[in-house]
Amino acid sequence: MSYAIPFNKPYMAGRELAYIADSVSSGQISGDGPYTKRCHAYLEESLGVPKALLTTNCTHALEMAALLLDTQPGDEVIVPSFTFVSTVNAFVLRGAHPVFIDVRPDTLNLDETQLERLITPRTRAVLPVHYAGVGCAMDVISEIAAQHDLMIIEDNAHGLFGRYQGQYLGTFGALATQSFHETKNFTCGEGGALLINDPALVERAEIIREKGTNRSRFFRGMVDKYTWVDVGSSYLPSDVLAAYLWAQFEAKEEIQARRQRLWKRYHSELAGWAEMHGVRRPVVPPDCEQAYHMYYLLLPSLAARSALIAHLKANGILAVFHYLPLHLSEMGVKYGGQPGDCPVTEDVSDRLLRLPFYNSMTEDEQTRVIEALYAFEDW
Ligand SMILES: *Cc1c(COP(=O)(O)O)cnc(C)c1O
Repeated sequence: MSYAIPFNKPYMAGRELAYIADSVSSGQISGDGPYTKRCHAYLEESLGVPKALLTTNCTHALEMAALLLDTQPGDEVIVPSFTFVSTVNAFVLRGAHPVFIDVRPDTLNLDETQLERLITPRTRAVLPVHYAGVGCAMDVISEIAAQHDLMIIEDNAHGLFGRYQGQYLGTFGALATQSFHETKNFTCGEGGALLINDPALVERAEIIREKGTNRSRFFRGMVDKYTWVDVGSSYLPSDVLAAYLWAQFEAKEEIQARRQRLWKRYHSELAGWAEMHGVRRPVVPPDCEQAYHMYYLLLPSLAARSALIAHLKANGILAVFHYLPLHLSEMGVKYGGQPGDCPVTEDVSDRLLRLPFYNSMTEDEQTRVIEALYAFEDW
């Protein structure tokens, strides 16, 4: 069914179609054309990362990270149970064994106080996910990772332009991954990026992304022919998609201002209502500048969430939930996941609700959502 107020709407900042037309008429629509280069330079300069590479999606950026880690069968990676399936699948594809960590009850980010006890001699990497674009405790996580020689790979799909203690999310780990999927702050439909903060990984990342060849070095005139030098695949998006994404990057200030306005209005207008009904609103610790990726609520019970979703649906409003605990999924159980392993994840995954949240959401649309919440009585 279609909803008067959907959960998400694809957004155009204004120049997307003009840039796509320009890309097509320029004669190069394959990967690493002029728009891709602009997007790379923009990410590198605005975040201060040594290297950014666009990828076909965030899942593929995570797969590149698993290859760059040289993941071997039996290696362990520590990953929150409360995340999107790609965070873990990319490593499982290379034979890694996922070790699921619970999340903190406030930010729903990886609980750094539990990290140390999950580390074994086989642990290779830890994967912080900056849930809702609010930073994980990267100071603590970085210190523990350094002590145990673990690579940090940030899944920053929610967190582009968020900061932790003043530092951009995506710049803490040796590697970080971004998503430009339709539901993220900046989009080109399907897209992603790998941010490379460890300069020692740059050359191999370029090779892996270019089918295991040294094609990038060839184009820079550093080798006189290009050939197969390593494992790899094809992770480059078409320059047509980069043209769409470039128009969104150009509108960064406007996009983030719109999202900030929507987030703050939900947060203030739902404050009294939430308190009255035992609903918890998002928590943003003082050392986090969030990326305004989503607005979620924690309802008092699964029954209240189901009833509220039905009530909103009857009012033409689509609200959704995620993530089912990975450690209790069909695959997670095969890796030894059991009920009780991650109690916070198990609890919040039954109660979390995401409200409609998109760049083009109007004041009237948001009023309608807020009034529908006020009108809900079936607690
Ligand atoms: C969206 C998302 C992904 C996957 O992104 P794709 O670009 O669709 O592959 C990975 N991790 C998290 C946390 C996400 O929200």
